[in-house]
Amino acid sequence: MNIIVCLKQVPGTTKVKIDSQTNTLVRQGIENIVNPFDTYALEEGARIKERYGGKLTVLSMGPPQAETALREAISRGADEAILLSDRAFAGADTLATSYTLARAISKIEEYDLVICGRQTIDGDTGQVGPELAEMLELPFVAYVSQIEEINNGNMRVQRMVEDGHEVIETPLPAVITVVKEINIPRLPSLRGLARAKNAVIAVWGAGELGADQDMVGLSGSATRVVRIFFPQRNHHGEILEGSPANKVARLIDKLRDAHLI
Ligand SMILES: Cc1cc2nc3c(=O)[nH]c(=O)nc-3n(C[C@H](O)[C@H](O)[C@H](O)COP(=O)(O)OP(=O)(O)OC[C@H]3O[C@@H](n4cnc5c(N)ncnc54)[C@H](O)[C@@H]3O)c2cc1C
Repeated sequence: MNIIVCLKQVPGTTKVKIDSQTNTLVRQGIENIVNPFDTYALEEGARIKERYGGKLTVLSMGPPQAETALREAISRGADEAILLSDRAFAGADTLATSYTLARAISKIEEYDLVICGRQTIDGDTGQVGPELAEMLELPFVAYVSQIEEINNGNMRVQRMVEDGHEVIETPLPAVITVVKEINIPRLPSLRGLARAKNAVIAVWGAGELGADQDMVGLSGSATRVVRIFFPQRNHHGEILEGSPANKVARLIDKLRDAHLI
């Protein structure tokens, strides 16, 4: 089983500032982490490799510092890491991101399974997994919470739905996104840390991918961020005074007035 895990480096805080001129995040001075959902994707990739043999490759599109996230992935079980980094990729929306990742996956050629997290904690769209599957023309299963079996080029998984689980069978290769209920990610091992320190991370740009320049970065993005802002909080709390019965009666009146009950 050759497995590819897509992993994104994200700001490790919600206290980010927005550049009002460019409508992008101010990334200076912000600690970056591996997108938490992607640690579950990575762990599942490592477990599948341990169970069925094969190779685990991690792939990330991002600025040069995203290399740190890839080294962390190697310390947690990945065999190889590829960073997709090029000025031409800057300003990518989910469509251009998925196109770039899909080009890289096609270049890797021999793979059986692509695993993504269910969503990131910064962009938060959950679009990249399904877009990747569409671009690679592969079957797709979202919200996978358990991989039951992989056999004869087929995979049976459980996916979480609102009121339970669905069991899905799909031929491989396929793309899945995973939820955090799927496993408990391991900590880096000492051997892993040593391997991560010495690992050579391949860096591929638009040229290496043979990418169409009009499909990557800002020029390949179908959407534009017109404005980005933190919502104003206009709600003020009110403390009701009086006896408990009186407070409850007034609270009910207020909820009725606001058409909330
Ligand atoms: C118009 C527009 C402009 C933008 N400009 C910028 C910009 O200038 N700079 C910037 O940093 N962001 C920018 N973004 C955000 C960027 O589009 C998203 O971060 C990116 O497309 C991924 O979407 P997401 O974070 O919602 O991922 P989701 O779809 O929520 O992620 C799902 C899964 O896909 C995988 N994945 C997602 N992104 C990556 C990645 N980069 N590498 C590997 N795997 C990944 C992970 O497994 C992840 O768990 C822009 C967005 C828009 C709409």
